[in-house]
Amino acid sequence: MSEAIKTDVLIIGAGPCGLFAVFELGLLDIKAHLIDILDKVGGQCAELYPEKPIYDIPGVPMVTGQGLTEQLMEQIKPFSPTFHLGEMVEKLEKIGDPGFRVTTDAGKVFECKVVVIAAGGGSFQPKRPPVPGIEAYEGTSVFYAVRKMEQFRDKHVVIVGGGDSALDWTLNLHPLAKRVTLVHRRDDFRAAPHSVEQMRALVASGKMDLRIGQVSALEGSNGQLSAATIKGNDNAVETVPCEMMLPFFGLTMKLGPVAEWGIALEHNLVPVETSAFETSVPGIFAIGDINTYPGKIKLILCGFHEGALMAQKAHRYVYPEKRLVFQYTTSSSSLQKKLGVN
Ligand SMILES: Cc1cc2nc3c(=O)[nH]c(=O)nc-3n(C[C@H](O)[C@H](O)[C@H](O)COP(=O)(O)OP(=O)(O)OC[C@H]3O[C@@H](n4cnc5c(N)ncnc54)[C@H](O)[C@@H]3O)c2cc1C
Repeated sequence: MSEAIKTDVLIIGAGPCGLFAVFELGLLDIKAHLIDILDKVGGQCAELYPEKPIYDIPGVPMVTGQGLTEQLMEQIKPFSPTFHLGEMVEKLEKIGDPGFRVTTDAGKVFECKVVVIAAGGGSFQPKRPPVPGIEAYEGTSVFYAVRKMEQFRDKHVVIVGGGDSALDWTLNLHPLAKRVTLVHRRDDFRAAPHSVEQMRALVASGKMDLRIGQVSALEGSNGQLSAATIKGNDNAVETVPCEMMLPFFGLTMKLGPVAEWGIALEHNLVPVETSAFETSVPGIFAIGDINTYPGKIKLILCGFHEGALMAQKAHRYVYPEKRLVFQYTTSSSSLQKKLGVN
């Protein structure tokens, strides 16, 4: 076992809520290390919708998933958090009161006074559609998220699904792709009605295609797709050109090791009280999508609020002898000094 890395707080998950928690903790002189399974920060925002606009971050009329991630990284810079990316937290043990030992799958060991679980839906994995041989094209022609829209320029793109992701990417990619074909198993969509209307207008004006049925076979070689066979609900079979395929069949939220950490769980979520978002184990907090409480909404802004309240209580564990005086960043010269703006 490697020598333990000591820190005040260990944050599990570097999604938006984990990142903002660094800021709230930093204002209170609490140092944090963050661990994430992904090889980059930003959680769902960076992994699932980096180029999609978000409209409900307070005071920010519009920012993309990647843009928000970058702004959060800029905002927490003064607190120099340490990131351990590409590692999964496997073990969480109680070693003090409070005091915890955390071990990753890479064998790294941390000892800390407080643990903040900001693990979102756990390790999220896209559901693979039941198309024979699809694995051979994954990462080259078949993608479960759009990282770079440019990859799809002048390509025949087949998008499969009927939810928001399928409809949003249909609308976003059709001006750029050579042709977009949307395939859904029924002529009824779960996506936002406005998106469905826009898609139907594009189909009516001949700018894209809609097929009701399922992709039953793929053609191509060396990982490069060339065509997809679509079996209609009337059993009619059609082959359409397909160089890129985007199946959106939802995500499997694999809670993963969180379930083995001795914390009470409720439907694969971590129940918390709402004055500090602490779990059933004192010193372990849960913020963002991973937690549950009456009235919980899985919104980024809710996770930010949870991080602010968590930090106030974490301060008591990290500095039991110090009284915490509430201060505004606008008027406190000591907070401004920490932020490097004064
Ligand atoms: C398409 C889409 C659009 C959305 N649009 C909006 C919107 O407009 N507005 C809004 O407010 N919200 C939106 N959301 C929801 C928003 O993205 C989530 O609420 C937010 O990402 C939750 O942040 P989080 O930090 O709690 O978790 P996540 O973003 O899920 O990040 C959790 C991180 O924890 C890591 N992790 C999990 N388990 C472990 C482990 N054992 N060890 C190490 N790391 C671990 C994961 O790899 C992940 O990176 C949208 C979501 C999607 C999918």
